[in-house]
Amino acid sequence: MEACQQEFRRETQERDLVVHLWFRSYFSWRWAALCLLGLAVGASVAHPTGSQRFEYFRIQMGTRVQIILYADSEELARQAATAAFERIQNLDEILTDYNPESELMRLCREASRRPVPVSGDLLSVLDRSLGVSRITDGAFDVTVGPLVALWREARRTKRLPERRLLAAARARVGYKNVLLDRETGSVKLRISGMKLDVGGIAKGYAADQALAVLKGHGILRSLVAAGGDIAVSGAPPGKVGWTIAVQSPAVAPGEKMALILHDCGVSTSGDTEQFVEIRGARYSHIVDPKTGRGVRHSATVTVIAPDDTSADALATALSVLPPKQGLKVAESQPGVAALIVARNGDQLRSYVSRRMQSYMSRH
Ligand code: ADP
Ligand code: MG
Repeated sequence: MEACQQEFRRETQERDLVVHLWFRSYFSWRWAALCLLGLAVGASVAHPTGSQRFEYFRIQMGTRVQIILYADSEELARQAATAAFERIQNLDEILTDYNPESELMRLCREASRRPVPVSGDLLSVLDRSLGVSRITDGAFDVTVGPLVALWREARRTKRLPERRLLAAARARVGYKNVLLDRETGSVKLRISGMKLDVGGIAKGYAADQALAVLKGHGILRSLVAAGGDIAVSGAPPGKVGWTIAVQSPAVAPGEKMALILHDCGVSTSGDTEQFVEIRGARYSHIVDPKTGRGVRHSATVTVIAPDDTSADALATALSVLPPKQGLKVAESQPGVAALIVARNGDQLRSYVSRRMQSYMSRH
């Protein structure tokens, strides 16, 4: 997607600021500011392994994909990064809903008639999605496609979807209507007119897969950021982890907070760029599958998980769930931590899981 906009750039000069994850609009709200900035903290120290830092980016999956890696030669770095970007491109072609001929879109058309064999990647993404649906009581649901389409239209026209259309869309939503057969590698949809939308998990999966490609090239210290979805492997040389700076209402003015992370995923979902305000109410692009409505209470959610597929899907799910219920889900999952910033009118309130506190460093 957006191949014409592709940009490929390598930056050899060392600088601190690496990952711009947050959005312009945030900086205009005093208390609403939650931004993530990846800091390459290894940049200014001598590298004990002698490896150098390389940084690349492209526009893929409708976002800025950034790769930072440590390698011993530029040739290896470039080869590995190129292969990682190609992997992401390939996943985008399978998973996009912008192309009616993508594997995902073909599946939506055909799978209500018969079980359709799918690629390993599509099977994995759907399998992982259904797993997150089960642990979040359906808050995460890749069958929300018909509802997402209505709310996209609402953002365009600034008018609420008609009740009749909402009801018709809701009748085609429900993750239990996706029948996935791991043995045969096929998928059947129980209702015709279902539309799968993997927008809440695809970037996390792509970041994980790109990281795996880098590992396959022997690159063991790297970071892949697909917009707000980040996967990291080993820490930069001489460091205990990648430092991801966080600004949020949970942090006192003037204080700095960072997450120090390695070998995991961290994702942020938020309504800062994609929302619609109608009659004073603000609706996110994330939809509550139970009500059919754009979520209203959630500002941003940051989730850390053992991999970024889980972090991405859980950040979307925890945007839907009431914050206390979201925290419970985070506490119940191994290796998962959450920072939830909830909205109540103009007020923002943050909820921090116990494990998240242990990743935070304040200074
Ligand atoms: P981002 O837009 O930053 O990638 P998310 O990862 O939270 O944020 O994904 C939001 C996207 O997920 C929406 O644009 C839509 O495609 C899809 N989506 C919306 N609501 C849900 C939901 N309840 N469960 C799963 N996916 C959803
Ligand atoms: Mg997500």
